[in-house]
Amino acid sequence: MELLKVKDKEVFVVESHNQVLEAWASGSQQNVFSLDYHTDTRAAFQRYSYWRADSEIKAGHSYSHEKRIEELTEEKIYQFMNNEIDIHQINDNLQHDEHLDFSVRTDIVDKVFVLAKNRNLKSSNPNVHILDGMTQYDDQRIIEFSPPCLPDCRKEKHDEECRILRAESSIEDSFLEDAVLKAESIAPFFFSHYILDVDCDYFNTEESLYPQEYEVFKRLVRNSDFITIALEPECVKICRHADSQLESDAILSRLVSLIEELS
Ligand SMILES: [Zn+2]
Repeated sequence: MELLKVKDKEVFVVESHNQVLEAWASGSQQNVFSLDYHTDTRAAFQRYSYWRADSEIKAGHSYSHEKRIEELTEEKIYQFMNNEIDIHQINDNLQHDEHLDFSVRTDIVDKVFVLAKNRNLKSSNPNVHILDGMTQYDDQRIIEFSPPCLPDCRKEKHDEECRILRAESSIEDSFLEDAVLKAESIAPFFFSHYILDVDCDYFNTEESLYPQEYEVFKRLVRNSDFITIALEPECVKICRHADSQLESDAILSRLVSLIEELS
């Protein structure tokens, strides 16, 4: 993890998204507003616990996948909560999309609101609420919001034009404001104490980094306690649009200029 001081703002930069936990764990149980292509809402240690349980079953030491996965995950969380292992050791076994679940289950942070491009219809994680306008919010600590388009689009079926417009509007008021209002409607004091978290793969076109009207983004930067940025260079290449050459280093340097200008 690298710490950049941009004017008065602390910006923590990591390679893999789960490494932001190192910064979050040193915070004071803030909320997190996260901009990400993916929702990153898988259960903590999903892969680690599965493969360990699997090898134990094959060796005849365990009998139930489901039960053993739960035990192994609980064991890791217990060890962390009781200071038997630190956040670096946690990250050795945690994948890049399992950190949100870990962060709320250990109270490192309070609530997480993820504004994502990738849309899940449902989640098997009980800590996750998918904001789809149909399901009742039940005080879950992770809120997923993946709008298919800009809120004022009236098309019945969002098309390729919509996809491009949504990408280019990533930090425009026309896209961000609605998400911020939704976070506030779920938790009225969400933005009194929060971390702004950005996965570079949230940006999929060059234009998306040069917004025209971005008062909401300015506020998000200025009022945040600190900022975390995940480079995720491979995801950036996978998620960028076909005619884009975006790379995470370029995204980081543009974000740093924006933060410098806004702080
Ligand atoms: Zn549309």
